[in-house]
Amino acid sequence: MADLKVGHYRVATCGNISENVSGSGGRGILGRWNATERAWMDDEEFGVEKKDRELGMNREITRRDFLNGVTIGTGATLLGGPIGAEKLFAAAAFEEFAPEKASDYYPPSRTGIRGNHDGSFTFAHRMRDGESVNSLGEAGNTGESYDLVIVGGGISGLAAAYRFRQKAGHNAKILVLDNHDDFGGHAKRNEFQAGGRMVLSYGGTQSIESPGRYSPEAKTLLKEIGIQTEKFYKAYDTKLYAKRGTAAFFDRETFGEDRLLTGMNSTPWPEFLAKAPLSDAVKKDIARVYTEKVDYLPGMTREQKIAAVGKISYADYLTKNCRLIPEALPFFQTFTHDLFCVGIEAVPAFACYEAGDDYGSFSYPGFDGLGFSEHEKEEPYIFHFPDGNASVARLLVRSLIPDAVPGSTMEDVVTARANYAALDRAANAVRIRLNSTVVNVKHNGAKDAAKEVEVSYMRGGKLNTVKGNYCVLACYNVMIPYICTELPDAQKEALSYLVKAPLVYTHVALRNWTSFANLGIHQIVAPGGFHTYTALDFPVSLGKYEFPGKPEEPAVLFMLRTPCKPGLPVRDQNRAGRTELLQTPYSIFERNIRDQLGRMLGGAGFDPARDIEGIIVNRWAHGYAFTPFGLDLPEWKAGEEPWVLGRRPFGRIAIANSDAGASAYTNVAIDQAFRAVNEILSR
Ligand SMILES: Cc1cc2nc3c(=O)[nH]c(=O)nc-3n(C[C@H](O)[C@H](O)[C@H](O)COP(=O)(O)OP(=O)(O)OC[C@H]3O[C@@H](n4cnc5c(N)ncnc54)[C@H](O)[C@@H]3O)c2cc1C
Repeated sequence: MADLKVGHYRVATCGNISENVSGSGGRGILGRWNATERAWMDDEEFGVEKKDRELGMNREITRRDFLNGVTIGTGATLLGGPIGAEKLFAAAAFEEFAPEKASDYYPPSRTGIRGNHDGSFTFAHRMRDGESVNSLGEAGNTGESYDLVIVGGGISGLAAAYRFRQKAGHNAKILVLDNHDDFGGHAKRNEFQAGGRMVLSYGGTQSIESPGRYSPEAKTLLKEIGIQTEKFYKAYDTKLYAKRGTAAFFDRETFGEDRLLTGMNSTPWPEFLAKAPLSDAVKKDIARVYTEKVDYLPGMTREQKIAAVGKISYADYLTKNCRLIPEALPFFQTFTHDLFCVGIEAVPAFACYEAGDDYGSFSYPGFDGLGFSEHEKEEPYIFHFPDGNASVARLLVRSLIPDAVPGSTMEDVVTARANYAALDRAANAVRIRLNSTVVNVKHNGAKDAAKEVEVSYMRGGKLNTVKGNYCVLACYNVMIPYICTELPDAQKEALSYLVKAPLVYTHVALRNWTSFANLGIHQIVAPGGFHTYTALDFPVSLGKYEFPGKPEEPAVLFMLRTPCKPGLPVRDQNRAGRTELLQTPYSIFERNIRDQLGRMLGGAGFDPARDIEGIIVNRWAHGYAFTPFGLDLPEWKAGEEPWVLGRRPFGRIAIANSDAGASAYTNVAIDQAFRAVNEILSR
């Protein structure tokens, strides 16, 4: 069966774009949507100043060294005022622009807003908004010429470099350009200093999911870069959380009062729900659908049932077939945010059945009596480096530029400090150039006669040009029509269809995790919260990295938020969510993080002002690749799906990225890279 899951992990509540979102419509978002300014505003009328002090908004945490993720070093402070990366970079551009060469250039430890950080999308959005390349200034020709230029330094771009070199020879000259200040794309490393030690986490791409299902090529690549997935069976401490369960947090904005209940999914439902701030009828009905084993689609064959649950949303299936009272829906509404980035009104029931209770936190009732076969046994969800798949990216970089990531094993990569100054040396056969947004890609001459491709990019506020025999576009596919204008219109239209899903992976470094230990839990589901899922990090110790397994030790919390707008078609929800994300300032995130953690854990001794040591808001405005799961999709003929039409090679240009496989997974990013490289090499 097709794997319809969009993504992997926990997402959060829909921040409604409304005038005032502190009320129930806003689901606990502290702040105000200012319609005139079209921006999220801090709102002193909410009495936040006093509340802020209690929450610790005035406390020194690592975040204070940064504004929206941009380091305030000497160069920056000279500029004065609020600092955006492009401003900082523009200043540096008067001299040679090479921030990566500075000894303290180390993006993994930057805090504040990361992910699609400020400064990474300025020029891409200007292209989107119709500016022409000519308006960006005279292009300076670097005089550089490569065998292959790759746009996008995520796992797909790096895998394309790896594959091309493997095929074209070790001396092949390759340039990878990426608009972020770090390589890896979604596969980013978050590094905190807390409690006097380093604690790691992941900025996006979380785990190597089901590696047994990877293609032979992707499996081989993992092996060649040194990953032995069987080692995770030892590295992942499956015992640490075995006796610590899941809690549900009912927030007052959605459910009338704040209440944290432990024992979710482990206590019989009537008992678990007894103290929930829900009406008796709602409690009874939720418990019923979780416990009764009824065939809600009587008289249908298995195939008819599968077809039926594929055409109805999970919300409708619950109310129409399982006869759940509609008042019970808010409990389930955001369960699908983690995998699909939209709520249950937009996800087919069949996709929920398939998702099952993958992660032990969200389980979807209603399918037990349908007579579907048991779920195929999945590989455990343990293939996780302490910095997530950033280690996959780092191992790829190590294989391409050994100096940049010292060491030689999958263990030592975990604690290796990347040397960013080594990424783009003239002596390297492979160079990775960060902080470089590609704005134009074109054949030098007619497509079929051209001998090279010209690639222009903005770096340090200056337009530069390089040449390549070939080019692989491993960047967001929706961006391609704006930077490769010579593509046929039909292909551009297909690429534009592939709207990504926005989501936020927030990481919070804590002084200790005793509050979780006191409650006997390791994760919290918060159906109406600003972040709808919160969890202690994956307990993985690898190489010299020891997971802080004692409650008195520091910890990194994962918190998930997905902005979406129920009721709209999925891609419009994604667009609206992206707009909201890009307009939500860091202070709103911070205040909501502190407020929510205080409300959820305060009863167990947690004090947000005292216990929070660092915050990274990994804002993925362009998150999971478009995945065809929605109820509003057209019927495409095989081979005419937008991602298939969109990824067609064009002269010397090929198209990769997980978008090109319409599936938000690392194996897909690798497979698409290999396909793209094969296409250009078989010309
Ligand atoms: C929050 C999150 C969690 C995820 N978790 C998992 C997981 O657990 N397991 C899993 O298998 N997958 C996961 N994924 C899916 C993930 O997208 C893929 O696994 C993989 O990392 C995608 O790699 P990519 O290279 O295709 O795309 P990306 O990582 O998006 O890389 C593309 C790069 O191109 C850059 N770019 C775009 N436009 C330009 C331009 N004009 N100029 C220069 N550079 C440009 C982008 O900024 C980006 O850096 C997750 C995704 C997200 C967002």
